[in-house]
Amino acid sequence: MRLPHENVDQLNTLDTAWNLLEPWGRTPANTTIERHTVYTFRARWLDSWRHGRVLLAGDAAHQMPPFAAQGMCSGLLDALNLSGKLDLVLCGICDDAPLDSYTTERSGHVLHPIGMSTALGQVICILDEQRAAQRDAHGCSRATRRPSQGPSPTPPPVLGDGILRNGPDGLTAPGHETL
Ligand SMILES: Cc1cc2nc3c(=O)[nH]c(=O)nc-3n(C[C@H](O)[C@H](O)[C@H](O)COP(=O)(O)OP(=O)(O)OC[C@H]3O[C@@H](n4cnc5c(N)ncnc54)[C@H](O)[C@@H]3O)c2cc1C
Repeated sequence: MRLPHENVDQLNTLDTAWNLLEPWGRTPANTTIERHTVYTFRARWLDSWRHGRVLLAGDAAHQMPPFAAQGMCSGLLDALNLSGKLDLVLCGICDDAPLDSYTTERSGHVLHPIGMSTALGQVICILDEQRAAQRDAHGCSRATRRPSQGPSPTPPPVLGDGILRNGPDGLTAPGHETL
């Protein structure tokens, strides 16, 4: 994480990469750095993931901070959603209407990891030492030792409206595909 007194040019050098790895025992003697870069993470997503014959997926459709390790996973879910629909359309089983629900289903779902990774970043990236010590004493460490004292789990992500019918609880109702 870039601290207020650091600039990108200073950070984006091989020497800095080795300095950051050194506390973990990684040195040129036991490690090869294939690539290093400074990047800015964002939490953002498109309103519409379909523009006619163009379908956007992965980081082109949504980006999130890396803290929950869900960026690529979300892109894979986009591909899964799209591939099933494209198969139906390209096999002539239906017209291209299901492709419209790609946006609503996936964007509703991806808001969950975007929110979770943003919230995690707000906990992990605390710069103030006193607040970080409080976090460690009363937050993460205690929650790790005693999960019952940690924050409540967030609700599970659900698909947004689309070709599957939802039950009253908002979850996909089993056995009620409407296609
Ligand atoms: C530090 C870090 C850690 C991460 N850790 C995780 C993790 O643990 N788990 C996880 O799920 N995700 C993780 N991610 C996120 C994950 O890397 C991305 O979400 C994923 O790589 C996005 O895949 P993509 O195919 O959508 O886009 P990209 O991987 O960006 O691929 C796009 C490709 O398109 C090419 N391209 C761009 N413009 C053009 C053009 N005009 N013509 C032709 N080609 C073009 C690019 O060169 C690139 O190869 C992490 C990301 C970072 C930065």
